[in-house]
Amino acid sequence: MPEKITVVGSINMDMVTSTGRMPEQGETILGEDFSVIPGGKGANQAVAAAKLGADVHFIGRVGSDVFGGRLITHMEEQGVSAEYLEQVPNESSGTASIILAEQDNRIIVVPGANNAVTPEVAAAHEDVIADSDILLLQLEIPVESVTKAAELAAAHGTTVILNPAPVQHLPKALLDNVDYFTPNEHELLHLFQNEADPSIYRSRCIMTKGADGVLFTQDNKEKHIPGYPVEPVDTTGAGDTFNGALAAALTRQYPLADACRWANAAAALSVQKIGAQGGMPGRQDVDVFLN
Ligand code: ADP
Repeated sequence: MPEKITVVGSINMDMVTSTGRMPEQGETILGEDFSVIPGGKGANQAVAAAKLGADVHFIGRVGSDVFGGRLITHMEEQGVSAEYLEQVPNESSGTASIILAEQDNRIIVVPGANNAVTPEVAAAHEDVIADSDILLLQLEIPVESVTKAAELAAAHGTTVILNPAPVQHLPKALLDNVDYFTPNEHELLHLFQNEADPSIYRSRCIMTKGADGVLFTQDNKEKHIPGYPVEPVDTTGAGDTFNGALAAALTRQYPLADACRWANAAAALSVQKIGAQGGMPGRQDVDVFLN
């Protein structure tokens, strides 16, 4: 069995409408295309790691609406264990309503059942977290739950990766229990500006820099891994692929620099295809790309 990754995080149904232009206030127009696609940072990162061959378990909540069952089935189809992904009665699934118009995208996210991933839910799965090699976290569920999950992981020696997105203030109890932070450039800036002592992140930060690759610290030295010169088609979910791949590589005992290199390659592959989860590569794709 491959080593085990647990994700405690968000899962949404993305509803994407493409239209030539945005409707004016009070106006109804005909759009061009509509699709319903599973998303959410937690789910995306879990799927990325599973596609790369990791044994991935997802702890989360969906609603009792039509999307709930569909999302659970989807995770299983993608190779993620959904044993701990449950439906919440009288609650809607997390959704993102996305309108794509020429030069004007608008998105409304409703967390719905993601807010039901409480600290108690994390605590109820202490054994799963304890039994994992890596706990992979983001900030689309209540921060108290992320904090609790990290605390449980730390108590059991499980490595914690936190992708601090969407970025917000991190309580000290969470900061103390994270082994690797994986912000993008914008998120890192926000974290630094809001922390009295930014050196708290030194040696634990793996910053993604879009087309410019990855920056991380090793032996007190900053190291840069350049991005791959690819033709990006859709960069949605690039960070999610990076995080899933980083977790998958670390469970395979890759040294940190190699794990970052491997995740950088996986993410570069993902931006060459449409969709967040749709563009995520398999393990062989990454190995072939690197050789
Ligand atoms: P996020 O999607 O969270 O904003 P980034 O934009 O930093 O994160 O992208 C994450 C990773 O995806 C990068 O570190 C890099 O490995 C890869 N990536 C993103 N955009 C490109 C690109 N245009 N060319 C090559 N790699 C890319």
